[in-house]
Amino acid sequence: MNAQDSFNDRLKKAGKTISTPRVIPRAEHSISRTNISDSAVKVLYRLKDAGYKAYLVGGGVRDMLLGREPKDFDIATDAHPEEVQEQFRSCHLIGRRFRLAHVRVGRDVVEVATFRANVPAVEEGETRSVKKGEDRHTENGRIMRDNVYGTLEEDAWRRDFTINALYYNIADFSVVDYTGGLEDLKAGWIRLIGDPVQRYREDPVRMLRAVRFAAKLGFRIHPDTEDPLFDLGYLLEDIPSARLYEEVLKLFMGGCALETFELLRHYRLFEHLFPQTEDDLAQEREGFPSELVARALANTDARVAAGKPVTPAFLFAALLWGPMRRQAEPLQAGGESETQAIQEAGDVVVMRQVQRIALPKRFSMPMREIWTMQPRFTQINGKRSLSLLMHPRFRAAYDFLLLRGESGEDVQDLCEWWTKFQEVNPDERQTLLRAPVAGAKAVIGSEALAATAATKKRRRPRKRRKPAGAATE
Ligand code: ATP
Ligand code: MG
Repeated sequence: MNAQDSFNDRLKKAGKTISTPRVIPRAEHSISRTNISDSAVKVLYRLKDAGYKAYLVGGGVRDMLLGREPKDFDIATDAHPEEVQEQFRSCHLIGRRFRLAHVRVGRDVVEVATFRANVPAVEEGETRSVKKGEDRHTENGRIMRDNVYGTLEEDAWRRDFTINALYYNIADFSVVDYTGGLEDLKAGWIRLIGDPVQRYREDPVRMLRAVRFAAKLGFRIHPDTEDPLFDLGYLLEDIPSARLYEEVLKLFMGGCALETFELLRHYRLFEHLFPQTEDDLAQEREGFPSELVARALANTDARVAAGKPVTPAFLFAALLWGPMRRQAEPLQAGGESETQAIQEAGDVVVMRQVQRIALPKRFSMPMREIWTMQPRFTQINGKRSLSLLMHPRFRAAYDFLLLRGESGEDVQDLCEWWTKFQEVNPDERQTLLRAPVAGAKAVIGSEALAATAATKKRRRPRKRRKPAGAATE
């Protein structure tokens, strides 16, 4: 019997879940306390010594079993949030949708969640609260608040994927598996617990999580879990834009951005996150679909792999460059200066995008600057070029210029010139400034400029998987 059948069977039993988990003793699995952060171990022991159950759960257990380094360690316990708080000097309770305890240990914050139960099967269209005090509240099948506490077993069944529902018990160092997660971990399946359509409706972000874990772990999404993805993307449109922003960062800044992007497009989820970008990608420019987004994501992955910083400003600049260009072209053709056109088009594109995904101002401002600095690269002139070089955002804007060059925009000459300009000594800089670059006028590329460019020999970008290492500070 697979995890889903057994889940449904159990739920039929008057909402009760009674089953025997598979328990793997310490000697038969690879998780060792030495791989768990000291802070998480301290919190686990503190809860256990106070008489509570305490387990490590989620990505920490999953990743350790796979021999990967976990990103963080989440703890599940039967202690209620207030009881957790009593155990620690520095602990505060957060969250409305989910109430959680954040325990501070030294410089770390350890997240502690109380076991919760999933109350299943709310009919579509029905709005109701289960239990007094609105512990759990759903609207049209979507979970708005989820604070019905439960047992360890109930906690396991309410989690998203089987591989995320494995528990490491600090009392005897065993691993506890109610949902078949160990088998799926071995077989490489991302499988939702329960009825996939219902679970996606409860929380559409699970669709993004399925894709993220598939890309990150190199797993396949189980057919039952995969099928509804193609049709349910529209549910993402009801998710608050601030939550989607957090998820998008996880999707694109976790080191597997390119793979994730390709899967999101495959499942038709991307168009619900970045509709303008999807439109732009669907149209060809000078006979080719744009490669800029894919290259930017490959660069981001290369930087993450090298331990270099990445910023949402650069990422969003790349994701929205195509739509912004498309919007700017008629403005420029209508007589606006290039900078003006970029600014105006940027306003429109950003305004539309933030309705879906709440890009904070501290990133949208530098993103806009990266764009508006692009025309300045064409103005090769002593004072202006030197002042551009000193601009605090020069590095990001220059990297963006390189990205455009790699992606087939006709700015290769400019890229070479600006690369050289940075490398040479002040005397040589003067020489360079006296011999300006050919093609210095091509920037966002109106159709007219593109036509001129097309008469030159076009240099196609190389295969996009090759990381180019553009910086994004
Ligand atoms: P990582 O931290 O490596 O990205 P993770 O699996 O730990 O992956 P978190 O977002 O930290 O992901 O969540 C911790 C755990 O909480 C998950 O493993 C899963 O069991 C549960 N969980 C998180 N989000 C959901 C959700 N939307 N629905 C159901 N369970 C969830
Ligand atoms: Mg986690």
